[in-house]
Amino acid sequence: MIAEAIRRRGAGVTTRYCASTDDVPDVLEDVHARSDVVVLLGAATWRRSPRGCGHELMSLEELIEVGGARVLEHRAFGARTTYRVGGTVRTLVTLASTSDLEELGPLMLSSGLEMFVLGNGSNLLVADGEHDVLGVHLVGEFEQLRTREEGDVVVVDVGAGLGLPIAARRLAKSGIVGFEWAVGVPGSFGGAA
Ligand SMILES: Cc1cc2nc3c(=O)[nH]c(=O)nc-3n(C[C@H](O)[C@H](O)[C@H](O)COP(=O)(O)OP(=O)(O)OC[C@H]3O[C@@H](n4cnc5c(N)ncnc54)[C@H](O)[C@@H]3O)c2cc1C
Repeated sequence: MIAEAIRRRGAGVTTRYCASTDDVPDVLEDVHARSDVVVLLGAATWRRSPRGCGHELMSLEELIEVGGARVLEHRAFGARTTYRVGGTVRTLVTLASTSDLEELGPLMLSSGLEMFVLGNGSNLLVADGEHDVLGVHLVGEFEQLRTREEGDVVVVDVGAGLGLPIAARRLAKSGIVGFEWAVGVPGSFGGAA
């Protein structure tokens, strides 16, 4: 009723009625644009401040803008797993370096979306539909393997995105023994940790 009354009086004013305060972020996401003034009526019990919510939406928008091709919306999630079934993620961020992480990390944190790092997907069964999460995919620098000798010991540094079978094969090829068992485990280091 209130929304209808405002709509009648205010030319150019967008009004929406939300039955639950939980719906407010989604509704705002549909209608808001930069520099809009958002007035919430009857949301006194809402624990999150409208300002906080607007900030989250702006951060997600900014993440998409700043991230360019590194940040994609409504991307396949289930299809990236071993079972190849299941839905999509709201946003998928591909990080290839620590500088990507430094640049996009703060915006990812303040996007308001729960973060989910996707490894090789060998231990995941994804439900159908769109998941309101920020999927993170590690490539490039995060798939590196470096070795160095310290006395009698060989120290192996690996990125979280590197596959266990790839590491097992590379190490065996360079004569470093002890990790051959991992050749049949289809996960990444991050997923196995
Ligand atoms: C045929 C087969 C054989 C297997 N054999 C073994 C075995 O011998 N031993 C064994 O221990 N397991 C085994 N597994 C289980 C599975 O491979 C491991 O759990 C694996 O390491 C998961 O890694 P992933 O990259 O596929 O993770 P995913 O399935 O992609 O993710 C699993 C979890 O890890 C999290 N995750 C992934 N990457 C990161 C990251 N970088 N940082 C933080 N969190 C992350 C995800 O968010 C998710 O919660 C096997 C699985 C299969 C299908």
